[in-house]
Amino acid sequence: MAALIRFDGRVALVTGAGNGLGRAYALALAERGASVVVNDLGGDIKGGGKSSRAADKVVFEIKSKGGKAVANYDSVEEGEKLVQTALENFGRIDIVINNAGILRDKSFPRISDDDWDIIQKIHLRGSFLVTRAAWPHMKKNNYGRIIMTASTSGLYGNFGQANYSAAKLGLLGLSNTLAIEGKKNNIFCNTIAPLAGSRLTSTVMPPDLIEGLKPDYNVPLVLYLCHDSSPTSGDCFEMGAGWISQVRFERSKGAVVRTRDSFGTPEAVRENWEKITDFTDSDKPTRGNTPFLVEMLNKFKEEA
Ligand code: NAD
Repeated sequence: MAALIRFDGRVALVTGAGNGLGRAYALALAERGASVVVNDLGGDIKGGGKSSRAADKVVFEIKSKGGKAVANYDSVEEGEKLVQTALENFGRIDIVINNAGILRDKSFPRISDDDWDIIQKIHLRGSFLVTRAAWPHMKKNNYGRIIMTASTSGLYGNFGQANYSAAKLGLLGLSNTLAIEGKKNNIFCNTIAPLAGSRLTSTVMPPDLIEGLKPDYNVPLVLYLCHDSSPTSGDCFEMGAGWISQVRFERSKGAVVRTRDSFGTPEAVRENWEKITDFTDSDKPTRGNTPFLVEMLNKFKEEA
């Protein structure tokens, strides 16, 4: 029988672990042997207030089941302090799950500067600061597993969430580059777009859906991606209610609208529109199109 997925000797930092998804990840990691930093600022869903209660409750739960955990009450905007808590208490940092988050939902023209800034600060900048603080320690250990929490709102858009969507898709970009930069040091970074009934979603979902979308359904993939045996980095997954799926980009074969001697015209775009948007025989790109463009330019040169 294949070995169980365990995290003995590993140290995990889960941000926003006082509630919802983060709490579920923290409990599950601890149950499988990890030492866990349970970070939570303990504020409300719009980013107001602060309390040690949320993190303390989860730490108590973990410890009462015989697990190892310590609380941290700082905002993810103080990334260094979160990582310091891991180092001071457990001597290392192996896993970072960037999960903390709030909402400031408003239709686009009603979004204030503050609504915009706080969402970018907590979701995107917070994940950057926490991960940057952990990075040198992971590099030194030649080991790291990082999760960025995006959202289908970022991948596809959602009415009333322009600020949140921008931050969430930003996290995918951040993750894609960290996967490239971390490769040589065995640091993996993946992105998830979860769906779960939680205090964040309880304002927009009916109670029976909340019940069917328990955060715990999102635990198996996250734990697998955080394990030594995880085969993947730089990928993005959608999940919820026990369903898991990988998401990737699709690029049409496209059309060349220029000629050797001209930049092309908007009329040529119109004439080629069907071809530009035809996904028959499409590519599933994992990098930009520079090699193709270089090849095309060389062809033009040869023909000159
Ligand atoms: P939740 O409100 O239940 O939990 C989020 C936790 O983050 C809270 O305990 C909160 O106190 C904490 N937090 C907020 N700001 C913080 C800060 N600055 N520093 C530290 N902790 C902070 O929400 P959830 O539904 O479990 O969401 C977790 C993550 O998943 C969020 O990033 C959210 O955007 C994302 N997400 C959730 C869903 C869903 O369906 N629930 C869907 C897509 C994405």
